[in-house]
Parts: sequence; C-alpha cells; structure tokens
Amino acid sequence: MDNMSQFPYGISVMEITYVVASVLFILGLKMLSHPLTARRGNILAAFGMGFAIIATILFHKKDGEPIGNIPWILAAIIIGTVIGWIIAKKVKMTAMPQLVSFFNGMGGAAAALISMMEFPHVSSDLIARQGMANGQVLAILLGLMIGTISWAGSMIAFGKLDGWIGDLRIRSLKYVNIAILILLIGFIVFIMTRDVEAASELTHWIYIMFAVAVIYGVLFVMPIGGADMPVVISLLNSFTGVAAAMGGFLYNNQAMLTGGILVGSAGSILTVLMCKAMNRSLLNVIVGVFGGGGQSGLEATGSIKEITLSDAAVLLSYSKKVVIVPGYGLAVAQAQHICHELDKILDEKGVEVRYAIHPVAGRMPGHMNVLLAEADVPYEQLIESDEINPDLPNTDVVVVIGANDVVNPAAEDDPSSPIYGMPIVKARNARNIIVMKRGMGKGYAAIENLLFFDNKTRMLFGDAKSSLQNLVNEVKSL
Ligand code: NDP
Repeated sequence: MDNMSQFPYGISVMEITYVVASVLFILGLKMLSHPLTARRGNILAAFGMGFAIIATILFHKKDGEPIGNIPWILAAIIIGTVIGWIIAKKVKMTAMPQLVSFFNGMGGAAAALISMMEFPHVSSDLIARQGMANGQVLAILLGLMIGTISWAGSMIAFGKLDGWIGDLRIRSLKYVNIAILILLIGFIVFIMTRDVEAASELTHWIYIMFAVAVIYGVLFVMPIGGADMPVVISLLNSFTGVAAAMGGFLYNNQAMLTGGILVGSAGSILTVLMCKAMNRSLLNVIVGVFGGGGQSGLEATGSIKEITLSDAAVLLSYSKKVVIVPGYGLAVAQAQHICHELDKILDEKGVEVRYAIHPVAGRMPGHMNVLLAEADVPYEQLIESDEINPDLPNTDVVVVIGANDVVNPAAEDDPSSPIYGMPIVKARNARNIIVMKRGMGKGYAAIENLLFFDNKTRMLFGDAKSSLQNLVNEVKSL
C-alpha cells in the first residue's frame, strides 16, 4: 500500500482512519453485549465501517495512482445501501434470523470473490519472484475456501430457517464431508507447491476449488436439523470473519483485519457458548455429524387438559412466584409488550415474576433478550435457565409462552431423542404449568413434547398475543 497523504512521522491519513475505525468496531461490539446499548453500538460500528470505506476511496494509492473505477464503486455502494436499507426496514422481527444468515453469507461471498479476483494478480507477481509457497497465496486460498463455505452454508441455513429446505439425513454424509474437507486442504497444498511459469496455469484450479467448497458448504449444513442450527449459525458467522481477516492480510488493510478478527473471534466464542448450551462438541459440528429431527421413543401416557382464562387468572393472581418461559411463538405473535403488561399487573398484586431465558429459545442467539428488552422488561428479571432451574420446584406457576423444544423433557428422559442431552428449562418441576400455544404444533426440532401431557400441565390454546390480552383483562377484573 502506498499512501501519499502523510502526517508527521510517516503516519498516513488512512492509517489513522483505520485505527479510529477499529476502535469504533471494538466499542460497538462491547456495546452490543447489552440490550440497552446494543442499538447505539451497532450505529457506532457502522460509522467505523463508513469512515474506513471513505478513507480508502479518498486516500488509497497504488504505485502513486489513486484508485480508479470511482463511478462503479459509488454505484455499487448506492445500490447495496438502498437494497440493504429496504430489506432491513421491511423484514419482520421473526424473519430476522434468516436475514442475519443471508447477510452473513454475503460477507463470505465477498471474501471468496476477493480471493478469486486477486489470485491471478498476486500469483503472477510471486511466480516471478519467489514462487507460490507464500503467505499471501495462503491468505488468498484460505479466504476462498472459508468464504465460500460460509456463503454456501449460510444460504442453506437461510433456507432452513425460512422453512423451505428440509434436512438431508444420510449417515455416511459425515465421511463424505471429511473427505471433501481433506480434498480442499489438498488443493491448497497442491497450488502452493506448484512450480509454474504463469499464473494462468493455476487459475482453473481456483475455480475447481471454489466449486468443491460450495459442495462442502451445502453438505455441511444440510444434515443439521433438530435443535442444532444455532451452533452452525454462529460457526458460519465466525467463518465469515476469518475469511474477511484473510482479505485484511492480503491487502495489509488494518480495518479489514481488525473487523474480520473481531467477527471471527466473537463468532467463535458464541459457537463455544452455543455448543455448551446444546451440550454438543465442536468437532461434531465441524464435520457435520450431528443430526436432528426423528421421533421420540417415549409414548404420551397422560391426556391434554385445558385451562379457562378465569382459572388461569386466579391461579396466577394468588401465586407467590411465577416464572415465564418465552419462546419462538412469543416472537411470532409479537406478544412481548402485552406479556410485560401481565407481569407488571401480577407484580402490583405482590406476585414475584421472573423470566427463564434459554440460550437457544427463538431463532437467533439472544433472541428472547432482544425481544423482551424491546418491551422494556427490566434486565434483572431475565434469568438464565441454568440459574433459575434450581428454584423451579418452589415456583407456583411456570407459564410457557410459545416455547416448546426448550422445555421438552425428552432432552433428559429419552436417549433416542435428537435433543437428548440439551439443557432445558425444567418447567415440569414447578407446582403448576400453564402452556400458551395455538394448538398441538411441534417446535423447531419437530418432536413430540410430553410436558403437554403432564398431570400438572394445563393448556391455554390460542395465539399468544390474544391469549395474553384476554388474560390481562381477566386478571384486572379480579
Ligand atoms: P420452538 O420452535 O420449539 O416452539 C415454538 C412453539 O411456538 C411451537 O410449538 C408453536 O406451537 C408455538 N407458536 C407458534 N406461533 C405461535 C403463536 N402465534 N402464538 C402462540 N404460540 C405459537 O421454540 P423454542 O423457542 O422453544 O425453541 C427454539 C428452537 O429453535 C430450538 O429447537 C432451537 O434449537 C431452534 N433454533 C434456535 C436458534 C437460536 O439461535 N436461538 C436458531 C435456529 C434454530 P403451535 O403451532 O401449536 O402454536
């Protein structure tokens, strides 16, 4: 990089801007860790990215020449901004996970395209000087491999979350996946050890490698179902970060490098946390061996018992301790505000109300925290499931609202269940359980839930928002 606009001591304007951008990324990320500051954190990081882009366009120079194709670059920025803005404005809250997956895929695709574009230039240069066994070539090839896997995998995850791609459950797929992964690493070694006269002799291998990485990305995510998608989503997120960081190495671009490393490491930490929450090992995730779906081996013995609104209102109003377990259905119904109203009314009646937050409730990490923060539920009322579980036997009523998999006892009782081993909110330990859902629909893992047949469970059927509204009216009238 050859940057002419210099400050004293040889520091360029661009370098300063990149450091400022990196600091904004870090502060933004820090602020994202709390719902109250998350929105501002997002804006701060976006400003950082904006500065980095503007500085690159204005001050980047190669061999003393400013960058060309400015109209093309501006047109791409305008088109991308308009499309992104419209999609983000129009998307429903419940379709957010799909959108995040799609945008993550775009990041991977951008990193893969950079690698494909830069390979011919960089390798021509290197062949003349020192051969292909070089850090820059390694960064290009890793960026291509990881970025492509992230793109292809994210597109499949997008389809799965949107419900139009099902699971492909073939036992031997894990061996195919391992073989493809080895093949991809083989490509990298092969390309880096070639002794060629011209880069064009290797370019076609780049396209073959791209195609193989697409196949791996698809086959890696296809078999993952049941309740295991959160792990794969955060893993793909970290892949995109690593792929972008490879671009940062390649261009010696500090902002791209910092941004990539932050996404990569935040995604990796989230993956480890998600693995812990799902009780899965990371190795299983990487080779795509864990599946999902399937049927429970246990039969329901009890029967479904309903509760009337007035009985539910009396039960809640005369309780000492109530725990609400929110799930995906609460988000679908957009019932978070009315849910908070219920907890406030109960609080006024002297009932202690807390929320049990399961790490994979909803459809994206932190979904319930974001949803309830939007309704101004105080953060102190949100208790992690691990922390609240020991207190559930002393809880008068657990109200499960649009949650299913995260309270399914099959995770503890049924070794043949695809969610066996996943920590759950132990709702069945409470004295009474009220379940609010529309019917007997299954959850994301598509398995039966015997909690609904438990003797202590009463079902309150209906859309969560209208059921909660009616319940609030009943409680008020008592
Ligand atoms: P589930 O998907 O298990 O269950 C949601 C329940 O909500 C359904 O059984 C449905 O039953 C009910 N429901 C749907 N719409 C409404 C409505 N309008 N009003 C009332 N109820 C409604 O949700 P959980 O939150 O318990 O579990 C999340 C699942 O998603 C886990 O399996 C998790 O692994 C997976 N997942 C999580 C991700 C994450 O990052 N958090 C990402 C991807 C997947 P009915 O149709 O009868 O109303």
